Formats: sequence, structure tokens, C-alpha cells
Amino acid sequence: MQLLLKNIKQLVTVASNGKQCKTGVEMRDIGVIENATVLIEDGHFRWIGADAKFTTALSDDAHIVDASELVALPGFVDCHTHLVFAGSRENEFAMRAAGKTYQQIAEQGGGILSTVKATRAAVKKDLKKLASKRLDDMLKHGTTTVEIKSGYGLEEESEIKMMDVINELRKEHYMTVMPTFLGAHAIPPEYKQKPDEYVEFVCERMLPYVAKRKIASFCDVFCESGYFSVGQSRKILEKARSLGIDLKIHADELAPSGGSTLAGELRAVSADHLEHINDAGIRALKAGGTVGVLLPGVSFFLNHSYAPARKLIDAGVPVAISTDFNPGSCMSFSVPMMMTLACTQLNMTPEEAIAACTLNGAAALKMSNTVGSIETGKQADIVLYDIPNYQYLAYHFGVNHVNTVIKRGVILEF
Ligand SMILES: [Zn+2]
Repeated sequence: MQLLLKNIKQLVTVASNGKQCKTGVEMRDIGVIENATVLIEDGHFRWIGADAKFTTALSDDAHIVDASELVALPGFVDCHTHLVFAGSRENEFAMRAAGKTYQQIAEQGGGILSTVKATRAAVKKDLKKLASKRLDDMLKHGTTTVEIKSGYGLEEESEIKMMDVINELRKEHYMTVMPTFLGAHAIPPEYKQKPDEYVEFVCERMLPYVAKRKIASFCDVFCESGYFSVGQSRKILEKARSLGIDLKIHADELAPSGGSTLAGELRAVSADHLEHINDAGIRALKAGGTVGVLLPGVSFFLNHSYAPARKLIDAGVPVAISTDFNPGSCMSFSVPMMMTLACTQLNMTPEEAIAACTLNGAAALKMSNTVGSIETGKQADIVLYDIPNYQYLAYHFGVNHVNTVIKRGVILEF
């Protein structure tokens, strides 16, 4: 099947010509083509360029879309989410608005453990239904690839239930889904006095099972004071690596935890959060080829400090931006909203923000060969927006500008 998008007012390709990600000044080069044509064949991009140069003969049944009023971007790659969960925490949001701190709410039984309680209690079918609806809504907002973590079970049965939901959605849903095992998201209440025993349980029991069933592409750890120390995180991640699973780390979110240094040393695929990363951490990420994933929606939602994006980009660390969609610290899966925050709070340019949410997000999932840019041979995930130009997307915020979502060459009907 052929699908031809012609007269695209502005096409943002984010072409990288074979590179896995963009770093430094390359992030500002997002490969814009005015009055463009894109030919899609069998779910992949076949031809991309200026209208005037298109000469390929089309088959009789080719579907042609006139996009003369539209701007096209690669589907967004949201490389860090916790979107499988039950319950919601608007009550805590209201408590924070009334002056309580995140810490005080957690001490009263709120916080992550309230989501753990609800997720443990939910049956798999209901958990899957909730998550599937969220994936539908993300597609409507221009996201076509998403990473999902476990981590609201914190005991074997519920962690595996979450991983099974993620993997079933991976097979059945239109969204491209990448599964991450985050058994070490927090110390479960049952292990409050004996955290090392939980680390042991994750390493010797859960990880081997997850590896045997091949249900996780990545293993992640929440490396932070009060959660998992650098030593405990290292133990879990080294075990995961020995089982053939790639590594991610929640690092330096609340304080300089040493997580980024560990990520670089272990050559983790990504280190995420980085609000409090120090110079040693930045050097380690650069040396390890580790993608720095920034989550400005969390800083915005919790009114915390933002990651030093400029320092990271200027140091040559590949920077990606993601939503961290979760019920506690960022109840939004709008990637354009994160781009707005990137521009207003992280001092990034609109071009850098686009590269961070597309190609560099794909790099944080080791998927740059398949998604993240509009280049011949890649999976045809492309989104058309009702906007005058690409800079408008982050500028006119809080509104969904999506006109058409094309996933693997298929126009999705909502
Ligand atoms: Zn997270």
C-alpha cells in the first residue's frame, strides 16, 4: 500500500543521516523542508523531499493526502513513563495546593505507596483497560512510541502483572511500546526495616524470571537517598546486565545522588531526571555515551528545580525530553507541553526541544534505527498538525494541534 503526503507546508524530518542521536549544536539542525512530499510504502518511508523533485510513479490504489495547510513532524518518542497504574492522586494535589509538602503527604500514607496499594489491588484486565485508554489518548496527542515501567507492584506477583500488561499492550496496541522493569522503584512497606533483603529479592528472584521470559528491554532503578543507594543500585543493574538487559537509572532527582556517575560508569542507555546533576555526573554521562532524559513536567508539577539542560547540551551529552507521565509527580502525557517547558524553563530552543522529543528519545530506547525521524527506511510514524509552522507548536501551549496521526503508514481514525 502506498500513502502519499503532498504539499506539506513544512516538514520537520529531524534527519540524522545514520547517527543515533543529536548532540550539541546538531540539536538545532532539525532538517526542515518547505513544501514537501513524503511517500510511504508498506509502513515505511520510501521517499522524502521537496514537492518539485518528486517523480516516482504511483500505483493505481495509492492514497493521496493534500497537506498544504499542515506541518508534519516525526511521531513523538516518550521515553520515560509510568503509565500502567490504578487510582489517581488528585486529593494529594489539592493537599499540596493547600500547603502540605510531598514529604508530609508521603508520611501520611500518600505518595507512591498509595498508587502501589491501588495497583496491587487491581485485576490485570482493569489495569490493562486503563493503560490502553491512556495509549489511545497519547496517540491523539502525537506520541507514537512510548516506554512504560513497572514499579507500582513492589512484590513479585504485582510486578509481573504490570510487566504482563505492558507486554500485552506491546503486542496488541497501535502504539509502539518498550517495556522496562522497575522493581526497585521504592522500598516496599514489607521491607522497610530490611531494604537489602528487598535488593536481594529483586536480584535473585525477580530479575532472573523477567530475563527468562524476555519481558523487559530495560532495567531501571530509583537511585536516591531514602530509596536505593548507589551500592544497591549498582548491584541490581550489574545483575540485570549479566542477564542481557539494558540499563536505565532515575538519577539525581532530589539531590546529587551519584546516580549519574554510576550511569556513565555502567554505560547505561539513559540517566533520567538529573535536576541535581553535578559536573562529575555530566562528565560521566558524556564518557559513557549515556542519554540524559529530562522531565520538566515533574519540576513544573511539584514546583521543584529544573535540570541544567544548557550545561548538558553544551557539554555534548545527548539530551532527550519525556513526560514521566505518572499519577504523583506529572499527570500529563502531553509532549508539546514538555516542549513548552523546555523552551521557557530549560532555556532550550524550539529546535532542540523537537530533537529531544523525537530522535534523542528514540536513542534513549535504542530505537533510533527504527523511529524518531522521517528518513527513508524508517517506520512511517508521522503526525500532521494544524499550525502555521513548527515553532508554533511549543508556543501555543495547552491545546492539542494534532490533525492526523499516521502510525506504521496507517492513518488512525479516532
Ligand atoms: Zn520516573
